[in-house]
Amino acid sequence: MTVELIETTSPAGLVLEKTPLETYVAPAKPSLIGLSRAELAERLGWIGVPPAQRKMRVQQLWHWIYFRGATNFDEMTSISKETRAELQQHFTVDRPEVVAEQISSDGTRKWLLRLPSGDKIERPHEIECVYIPETDRGTLCVSSQVGCTLNCAFCHTGTQRLVRNLTAGEIVGQVMVARDRLNDWADRDTPGGGRLVTNIVMMGMGEPLYNFDAVRDALLIVADNEGIGISRRRITLSTSGVVPNIVRAGDEIGVMLAISLHAVRDELRNELVPLNRKYPIAELLQACRDYPGASNARRITFEYVMIKGVNDSLDDAKLLVKLLKGIPAKINLIPFNPWPGTAYECSEWDQIEQFSEYIFNAGYSSPVRTPRGRDILAACGQLKSETEKLSARERQALRAMAMTD
Ligand code: SAH
Ligand code: SF4
Repeated sequence: MTVELIETTSPAGLVLEKTPLETYVAPAKPSLIGLSRAELAERLGWIGVPPAQRKMRVQQLWHWIYFRGATNFDEMTSISKETRAELQQHFTVDRPEVVAEQISSDGTRKWLLRLPSGDKIERPHEIECVYIPETDRGTLCVSSQVGCTLNCAFCHTGTQRLVRNLTAGEIVGQVMVARDRLNDWADRDTPGGGRLVTNIVMMGMGEPLYNFDAVRDALLIVADNEGIGISRRRITLSTSGVVPNIVRAGDEIGVMLAISLHAVRDELRNELVPLNRKYPIAELLQACRDYPGASNARRITFEYVMIKGVNDSLDDAKLLVKLLKGIPAKINLIPFNPWPGTAYECSEWDQIEQFSEYIFNAGYSSPVRTPRGRDILAACGQLKSETEKLSARERQALRAMAMTD
């Protein structure tokens, strides 16, 4: 286990980012989920599949894993018995383990998922993943990290200390768990016939652009139309503003972009989203202007959490409209979701309406995001896994252990 405790500080000495405290330790028998076709072919080589057969076997595996959602090799009847036995001996198709499932009164479901973790950590790494059914779609909110290295002032996940990047398999695995639990695979008996998980938002725990490669590899698998097949237009990646990776996301992943803006003046954004000290608003908006593929048909979403008396004045709305001039944008107002221990409150409904109306009259679509699953702490910014619940003393012990590593 490598443990680093370096923290990036701003010139004013404020902590901007926590460095991941943990690294991923692969289980003895690894899962094939999350591997690209080329990586699958390589694994087949390891177990003695001759080169001439690999391409066909990869196609079969891909179909069983990502199209039909097979949970073990026995189901893969088009693959020879011998190859299945070899696969079984060396690999699994395991997804993250479901530890708990909560269903909200509004139908939202939250899964607490356990991941393989390092041997020195007593408590396993856990993440949360949320399914939000709506009349015309079903959106799955997927995590990219255990916790988050950033410390946005209004976000519950940001208060979580224990952090590691998820692997591509753990990211794709969340989508597979949702399809398993909802009986939502191609040949299964989905109620009503159509698919339940139709949209993906990378808006769970973590900053996806600080785990770029794994998020890219995972989303390319999720979008692959011979497998899970959720088109790039139905996948949205939300970032708090990791400017150097925004254009890369457009080039290398090609999904829809959402920006967690939340403030229109650097002074306030520095406070709410401390990463702003590194990448201020002007740089962030320039990256949006340069985002490949942005157009009126493919607008960038600007997320704006409405916090009472902090960022919800009409002046803020006016400046927001000014700032976004020339960017194909829509604005998503998110009523602040409270969590235990926060000092912030949600804006008054009247204030949200006024704000929304101003933006709407200026020509922007400005839906107010209805909070979903608040009763099970599944709404935006409320996610925080049990892993965090280490006592101060335990955390200190962990640090001491890391120092002697
Ligand atoms: N790290 C990424 C994606 C995860 S957060 C990001 O910040 O964009 C998903 C969205 O929920 C972000 O817009 C985030 O700012 C917002 N959010 C965080 N805490 C919130 C809270 N308490 N109430 C409402 N929205 C919140
Ligand atoms: Fe991390 Fe996003 Fe929460 Fe900020 S809002 S702490 S970037 S998860």
